[in-house]
Amino acid sequence: MENLTDIKVIKDIFERHGFSFSKGLGQNFLINPTVCPRIAEMGGAADGVGIIEIGTGVGVLTHELAKRAEKVVAIEIDERLIPILDETLAEHNNVKVINGDVMKLDLAEIIKENFEGLEVAVCANLPYYITSPIIMMLLESRLPLTSITVMVQKEAGTRLCAEMGTRDVGAVTAAVRYYSEPKLLFNVSRGSFMPSPNVDSCVIKLELHKDGRYKAEDEAFFFKTVRGAFSQRRKNLLNSLSSSMGMEKAAISAAVEAAGIPANARPEQLSMEDFLRLSEKLILMRNGE
Ligand code: SAM
Repeated sequence: MENLTDIKVIKDIFERHGFSFSKGLGQNFLINPTVCPRIAEMGGAADGVGIIEIGTGVGVLTHELAKRAEKVVAIEIDERLIPILDETLAEHNNVKVINGDVMKLDLAEIIKENFEGLEVAVCANLPYYITSPIIMMLLESRLPLTSITVMVQKEAGTRLCAEMGTRDVGAVTAAVRYYSEPKLLFNVSRGSFMPSPNVDSCVIKLELHKDGRYKAEDEAFFFKTVRGAFSQRRKNLLNSLSSSMGMEKAAISAAVEAAGIPANARPEQLSMEDFLRLSEKLILMRNGE
């Protein structure tokens, strides 16, 4: 196969296929030859593993995944890239390319159809305009995944991997930790992409909890509590919840106290256990119990 990190090779492919980048689809393609092999290896691509790749571009990461994994299902929304992928991935007979929007596909069905008897993991250089929605969709759908290894913008990676109780925590941090253990793998400079974005990136890995570590009685209400707590960055927990939960401030205050959380606490100071207790106490208050 031609070297898909060589700018001359990519430009030649684009010219022959009349392709030009779509900024709206987050098309920043990797041209640093060291990055894709590392994502594939650290993301768990190996014998006995099926990989879902989201956003294939010209197939530079797909190629490294296909070399190592048992099978790869590669999802790409831009139909103009499909004939290009037919060409660049021709040597691999373990890759299936699906032209579609990952947010609209039935991934559970795709896993069932393609990965029987295999462990399944996600590896991707994600389109940045839709990073958090894709990660949350993958986690919330309770797909049978072992891990999700993705390139994201550095700032998003810091938030997604923040330790609970630190100032980088946001609602998405708590949501990610509910389902998985996040880890920052390595940083990637903006010059590693064509076209080069305005920010640096990093690769993170979310290892899904196998043991159902955290279990909220009412998951929807738990996530509503977390979102409500972080809804107003400069306010403390009590005030943020008061303006977002649709409950009386006195009831919220009583729930915060019953959960053993100081009245003036800020949301970023809470642990996962604090959030779980708080959402339970809020449910009791809401039900007038
Ligand atoms: N994997 C390639 C690489 O590393 O060079 C391309 C990565 S590029 C950052 C993101 C890719 O995701 C683009 O090819 C884009 O067309 C595709 N994409 C954007 N939105 C998508 C969606 N909703 N579903 C599937 N693919 C999408």
